[in-house]
Amino acid sequence: MTQPIPETHGPLADAHAQLAEAAAHLGLSDGTHRMLAASRRELMVTVPLKRDDGSVSVYRGYRVQHNYSRGPAKGGLRYAPGVDLNEVRALAMWMTWKCALLDVPYGGAKGGITIDPREHSLGELERVTRRYTSEILPIIGPEVDIPAPDIGTDEQTMAWIMDTYSVAVGHTVPGVVTGKPVSLGGSLGRALATSRGVTHVAVLAMQSHGIDPTRATAAVQGFGKVGRGAAQLLAEQGVRVVAVSDIDGAVYASGGLDIVALTAHTARTGSVTGFPGAEDIAPSALLALDVDVLVPAAVEGVLTATTAPLVKARIVVEGANGPTTKAADAILSDRGILVVPDILANAGGVVVSYFEWVQANQAWQWSEDDVNARLADKMDKAWHDVVAYSTEHGMSLRQSATALAVRRVTDAHRLRGLYP
Ligand code: NAD
Repeated sequence: MTQPIPETHGPLADAHAQLAEAAAHLGLSDGTHRMLAASRRELMVTVPLKRDDGSVSVYRGYRVQHNYSRGPAKGGLRYAPGVDLNEVRALAMWMTWKCALLDVPYGGAKGGITIDPREHSLGELERVTRRYTSEILPIIGPEVDIPAPDIGTDEQTMAWIMDTYSVAVGHTVPGVVTGKPVSLGGSLGRALATSRGVTHVAVLAMQSHGIDPTRATAAVQGFGKVGRGAAQLLAEQGVRVVAVSDIDGAVYASGGLDIVALTAHTARTGSVTGFPGAEDIAPSALLALDVDVLVPAAVEGVLTATTAPLVKARIVVEGANGPTTKAADAILSDRGILVVPDILANAGGVVVSYFEWVQANQAWQWSEDDVNARLADKMDKAWHDVVAYSTEHGMSLRQSATALAVRRVTDAHRLRGLYP
């Protein structure tokens, strides 16, 4: 079949290639494949911002709903200078597969603004968030599309979105976003949920390879919401986290980094670099470290045809969405390196987002232990489903996870039928 959008590289090309493989494996019709390859709804908006100095800047914002056959669309909101429509489309498609794989009753969406949040005051970020929210308001809502934090956004951003939406409709609607502050109806355990899920499957992957976590080493790329938590939780499992990086640089300590102290250092200085007791290394060197587990938890496309041959880790656990390109995937697979794919590895966030939405809609709060136990159950089930499929069909974990997810979404389409 011809690809609906003929780009040859980048996250959307990777997402389309993964879908094409699953469609061929599942024997999907050309029409079904085309339907799944296209976003259901895309909104591109202009977001003017009054700056603190009185001038006006203008940004481009997006909200893409890839699919909502299994339930309301769900997905993060990204503030980064590189955000564009194709990136948001790819991230939305991956959200559809992730929700289906974890069997939460959502479709996939994603949003973004092409903006560098580091260049803006809190007041400017609030104004840009409120204006963006008002622009996408017609297509979001607790039963329509529910945003959550992603790169460059956090629980404060979600609080502003919830407030803007609530003011517009005239009453408080906590279920319009997830990843909110706990005091506004956020879920206990949500802040660390993605990292907890990453750590949970990293331990399962180590066990599947006969690696004792308390004797294992790890390197984590990205020291934001996902990477920082994953480094901390891996360390709590006894894993020696020898290196981490952020956008400014990377640090290495062969005896293991003190993640709590490094978190305090980062809060103080704004970067992991210059951490006492560790050596600054080139960020590219982190990917090539001789560790048991590599956790890319920053951005897409970091493991490429150039960097994948340098990877010495035995296991890659994708904290980020789309960190491994299609070409790199084949290289890592040929080299016998196990890749735990993003739609499985980082699904803890959307699972607890779903728990938060359930709690918000029922006005009932679960304990943190309850949330973590339910999350562990979901991650266990998805891991075992994917491993069993992989063993049965001789496919990689990514191919298996994608095939399982695409099959579930296709089943929903078939049962609902094509309107009219
Ligand atoms: P964040 O903004 O909190 O942190 C991003 C981190 O990556 C920062 O430390 C930043 O300095 C670093 N970074 C950015 N560009 C980099 C580069 N080129 N090299 C090295 N480091 C770089 O974002 P986050 O929420 O932690 O998201 C990270 C990844 O995890 C993204 O791919 C996101 O889509 C994915 N993800 C996030 C969640 C969530 O709940 N937040 C859930 C699932 C997946």
